[in-house]
Order: sequence, then C-alpha cells, then structure tokens
Amino acid sequence: MNIALIAHDNKKNDLIQFVIAYQPILEKHTLFATGTTGKRIHEATSLPITRFQSGPLGGDQEIGAMVAQNNMDMIIFFRDPLTAQPHEPDVSALIRLCDVYAVPLATNMGTAEILVRSLEQGDIEWRNFVRGNKGE
Ligand code: PGA
Repeated sequence: MNIALIAHDNKKNDLIQFVIAYQPILEKHTLFATGTTGKRIHEATSLPITRFQSGPLGGDQEIGAMVAQNNMDMIIFFRDPLTAQPHEPDVSALIRLCDVYAVPLATNMGTAEILVRSLEQGDIEWRNFVRGNKGE
C-alpha cells in the first residue's frame, strides 16, 4: 500500500514517535511524506520514504495529485488544530480529495492507531481492487 505521512510542526514529534512505534507494520509498505516530515522520519528510523515538497511549498498538493490518480491508499496527517497554517487551503483540498476518493485518512493519533492496525489486519485490501490490483 502507498501511505502518506504528514505532520504540522507542532505535531512532528508525535508523528516520529508514532512511526517508531508502528515501524514493524509501516516498513512493509511504500511510504511518502511532505519534505520536512519525511526528512525527520528518515533521520529517526532510516525507513525509505519518498519526499515531496514541504507542505507550505506544495507538498500537500503533490500528495493530493496522487490521491486524484487513485495512487494513494492511506493518509496519516497529524494536523495542528491550534495554529494557523499559511497553506490552509491546500490542507483543506487534500482532505476534500480523500473524501472524493474514499481514501482512509487519519488527522490525529487516535484514528491513526486504528488505521494502522487495520492495515496490519488486511482491512484495507479493498484498495487493491479500487486501484485495479496495482498495489502490493
Ligand atoms: P512539512 O510539511 O513536512 O514539509 O513540514 C507539512 C505541512 O505543513 O503540511
């Protein structure tokens, strides 16, 4: 499965801890991230991860493009609900596209834990059919 990981600045430490905790599951999949998030994850875990632009410079939109092509199977996006983001329109657009394409999306750690455990149980396998069995 193709999984995107994104965290706003105040949530990056939480996401790093999350990825370390679930590394045995996440390492079986193909990981993508916005620029700084991906750099931090790679430094902390050495996991291979494809990095897009930083979020404010278009990274959310690049991930959105993968959603629009039905190439993204899950998004874990630790948003900061207490800080204004210069790229809020891009954040909203990404969330909207997840709804358009029914892509599983977690915007906080509570939901992210459920999604990653579902991933391990094979509950997201239906994405392979949506993608025409292009996935792993
Ligand atoms: P970043 O972008 O990983 O480059 O910090 C995340 C975001 O702010 O959307």
